[in-house]
Parts: sequence; C-alpha cells; structure tokens
Amino acid sequence: MKIRSVRTLLTLALLICSFRPGAAGLQDGNRTFQQTVDRLREAGLSSEGAFDLLRRIASVGPRLTGSPGAAAAVELSLRLMAELGFVNVHAEPVEVGHWVRGEVAEAEVTASGTRAAVPLAVCALGGSVGTPDRGLTAPVVEVLALDELGRLGPNLKGKIVFFNRPMDRRLAEPFSAYGGAADQRVNGASAAARYGAVGVLVRSLTLREDRNPHTGLMQYDSGVPRIPAAAVSTLDAEVLSALLKKERDLSVSLRMNCRDMGRVTSANVIGELTGTDLPDEVILVGGHLDSWDLGVGAHDDAAGCAASLEALRLIKAVGLRPRRTIRVVLFMDEEFGGTGGRAYVRAPQRKSERHLVAAESDRGGFVPVGLAVGGRDSKVLEKITAYGSLFKPLGVSFIVPGGGGVDVAPLVEQGAEPAAVMINSQAYFDVHHSALDVVSSVHPRELELQAVILAALVYILAQEGI
Ligand SMILES: [Zn+2]
Repeated sequence: MKIRSVRTLLTLALLICSFRPGAAGLQDGNRTFQQTVDRLREAGLSSEGAFDLLRRIASVGPRLTGSPGAAAAVELSLRLMAELGFVNVHAEPVEVGHWVRGEVAEAEVTASGTRAAVPLAVCALGGSVGTPDRGLTAPVVEVLALDELGRLGPNLKGKIVFFNRPMDRRLAEPFSAYGGAADQRVNGASAAARYGAVGVLVRSLTLREDRNPHTGLMQYDSGVPRIPAAAVSTLDAEVLSALLKKERDLSVSLRMNCRDMGRVTSANVIGELTGTDLPDEVILVGGHLDSWDLGVGAHDDAAGCAASLEALRLIKAVGLRPRRTIRVVLFMDEEFGGTGGRAYVRAPQRKSERHLVAAESDRGGFVPVGLAVGGRDSKVLEKITAYGSLFKPLGVSFIVPGGGGVDVAPLVEQGAEPAAVMINSQAYFDVHHSALDVVSSVHPRELELQAVILAALVYILAQEGI
C-alpha cells in the first residue's frame, strides 16, 4: 500500500457506528444470512485455505512491477483461479514501468582522522536513478522537513540531504503516522535537487528500530536533475544523526546501480462467480499482485490477493450461488504507478458492466477489527451496519464509512462504493516494504478471518445490492 491509499484512509472519519438492531424487514434476511455466515466461518476456520494461497503466490518470490517475478505471478494466478473453479478467468493487459534495483546498494560514513568508516544499511527507493559506478561522496545535511530546504538554500549545493523525520509515535493509527512522514520519501529527492543537492538519504518509514531499510516509491519532478535516493534503516539513521551532532563536516559515500528499463506489458488477473440473476452487476474484491522486492510481499499484498481468492473459494465451497457477479481482480502495479487499476476501468469489457462495490484488501494480513464501507451517508453503509451483528463474532467491532485504495480508486470515481476489511495495523509498518515482509510474518488464522469477513460481506452485497 502506498501514499495515495493512505490519504484515502486519513479522510476516513473515525466515527464509530454503533450496531443497531436490524431494521424491520431485515430480520428474516438476517436469519438466513446468519446461517450463511456460520457456514462460511466453519469452512474458513477449519482450514488454512487463505494462507495456502498466500504461500503459493509468495512462492514465485518478489513480484516487482515489470519483473519476471510479476510475470510468473500472473501465470500462477490464472492457474490458481482455474483450479479453484472460478469462471471467465482471464488476464487483461496493463502497460507498466520496469525498474530494477540492481545488485549494489552500499553506504558508509567515510572515515575521519579519529574513527573508522561506519557502514549504513540502505536500499534504493523505487524509481531512483543509480549513482556513478564508483559511487558518490558528499557532505551530509540533516533536515526534518521539506520546508527546511528553502532556509538552507545555497548550503545544500553539492550535499547529500538526510531526511530524518520519524513517523510520529504518538499517533494511535500507524497509517496516519506513515502518511505524515511519507513526503520525505516520495518528494524529497526533487525538493533537494532544486537546491543543488546530489543525493538523498531518507529515514525508513517504520516505527520499529532495526537495521532493515524500507523501500517504496519516490517520484521525480520534471525539469529538476534526477539524483539518487536511498532509504536508510531507522537504527542507522539514529547513528548518522548522532555522528552529525559531533562532527559537522561529515561525509557519506553512496553507491547504487538501480536503473530504469523502460516499459513492458503486464496484466491484471480476473476470475468470478457469475451472478445467477444480475450477472452484469459486479461486486469486486481484490488486492495487488505486484510487490516490493526486498521481501516477498507476503503482507503487501499477497495477503490481500489470497484473502480475496479465498473469499470466492469459500462462497463456492459452501454451495452459495450469488445473484450478482462476485469478481476477484488481482491488480498489477499498485506500488509503481497504479496503472492496473486504471487499465481495468478502461478495458472494453467494462462497457456492459456496472460495479456496485469495489472492496480492496491492501492493509496486510493482520487480525481484522472492523469494516469500512461506502460514503458517509450511503445506503450501503446503512445496510451493512444493519447487519453488524453478523460480523461482530468475527471480530468486527466497528463499521465506518471509507474503504478504497489505489487500485479501486478509478472505479470509485465512476460511482462504485468502496469497501475494505480494517485490520489492526500496529505491526504492519514493521514489515512494510522491507526484507521482513515474508510468509512467516503472516498468521494463518488472522488471514483466514479476513477472508471469511470478505466472503460474508461480498455475498450479502451480491444478494442485496446497495
Ligand atoms: Zn500494498
């Protein structure tokens, strides 16, 4: 998940809707759905279906947009959906960028008269240019905010700017803390290059203090020199900051051989359970197939893909036949530009379809705690809130307006209602975009609960509409 989806989340009001007893007329429906939800829960929690799917997706390794891993994930997903018995299984083309990290990402505080060189754990930020082959060495200036750059002005010429504002630990919601610090990563390089800086180091976006650098997308402004941008681990950011307090004229050398490889054709992968009565009305559920490449993108976002696939598998396994179409879309390129979400709405097949709800799962595979559905005054929010008692035993303690994300944003712009299972995100940024985002960091039952909740949500929506 990246910054644009964080912004969506930040706008999500923290209004907790209390569960109202079902309105008159929903009682019968509630009883029927109670049995349905019980069956989905029993089928889901008695297996590790979602975790097994996650393991298979992660088995192809990192799935960086445009990479051979991403292409392998497309092929695997087509096979998985066919195996699971979904219908209309197909891939739709998406033109994407192809950036490679390369083999080298090294940095060190250069030796001084009184001490040896100090290595720094760094990684290239996604989209960064590399350094010259022999690396670059320059004095370092530490800043905590982009708006400090203007004040420093000419002093930044020829320097490496070190952005070291931590995520705000005082905030209860880590996504808010992430959103409040991500400008350094996304826009820091071009902001510094305007003043003649030659490179940037950005403190990793995590609340955890360790030596794992966290990557993520950075963007260059046009008309400004493109300078190398690296993330530095939080512990090494602390080391560098402490050294700078003692030594004013400290230099860092940085060497990276990441590079852009042009554009390639990739794909979104799509399958569905076609509606029995209203097949052209679509309830969409999905996540993104691409990932960052330091780990295997287990939480971000094999978890969302697996939970979405498992939701449809469960609906089918307990013998339900939805009135409207329930479709799973595994989007390509959420992390590197969101081209998959835009290609999906532009595909010619969309002309005859109407998407009622688009549920995006891209908040990790941690334990679910709530649901975000629709706009503040939307009918769909009212409807799902009325069914709150069905979700409460699954751990859903609040239902709020919201949902959405990068992949479904184009659908939401066209009128689809967003939705998402909200998870406890306290540990999400420990692993997010780092080498720690691996299969063993996902708990099978936590992920399965997400799939069961998704299955119940999309099935009710497919039966009831919005
Ligand atoms: Zn993601």
